[in-house]
Amino acid sequence: MASLKDCIAELVVANHVLANEDVLDGFGHISMRAPDDPSTYLLSRARAPELVEEADIVRFTLDSDPLEADKRSYYSERVIHGEIYKARPDVMAVCHHHAPAVMPFCIANVPLRPVTHLGATIGATVPVWDSQDEFGDTNLLVAKPEEGASLARALGENFVVLMRRHGATVAGRSVREAVFRCVYLANNARTQLAAAQLGQYETLTPGEVAMSGEFNLRPYAVDRAWERWAMRAVRRG
Ligand code: MN
Repeated sequence: MASLKDCIAELVVANHVLANEDVLDGFGHISMRAPDDPSTYLLSRARAPELVEEADIVRFTLDSDPLEADKRSYYSERVIHGEIYKARPDVMAVCHHHAPAVMPFCIANVPLRPVTHLGATIGATVPVWDSQDEFGDTNLLVAKPEEGASLARALGENFVVLMRRHGATVAGRSVREAVFRCVYLANNARTQLAAAQLGQYETLTPGEVAMSGEFNLRPYAVDRAWERWAMRAVRRG
């Protein structure tokens, strides 16, 4: 197991990569389950992801309370992370975002489908959660534990859930896997939208999704992409 310090450093890089790849902007956040205590998770204090530093990383309980409360403010939607970690012991990282590439599929009544081999990492099924169904009119933020738990139920055994009129939440079995899935979720959405403008388009078969999804999530592929994204973020920063 990597040291806590190395994990925090990786989480900081993940913040910078996702900002640089247009998944996160001033809003959105990525967390990881703490390697030394799986009943806690690590997430930045409320700050734009591209500015996040190691000193910003805070440890939260799965009820999303900071372990050591201080005067800093925290993301109001952090319950998304805590409730998914509660529901999914296999999930080690969670990202909530409003990536522009994905937003059309949160508005239109067209299902987001895996249409490319790298897009297969989003999984065969991308459920859509609508806060209206259980909570009626809200400010659309997922800030209450019951809202986070509802979203986690909609995610089910999948790794991506779209949130109507709001954004998306992506899970991973590692920070790098979550980042990989976020970037290729956005790429897949752009490709599907572009193809739809041409006319009819094809989607992967369930067998192709299963086989190429797992194939592209091997460390060989994920680390190769990660290295490039991390370097791009450094060069930009
Ligand atoms: Mn949000």
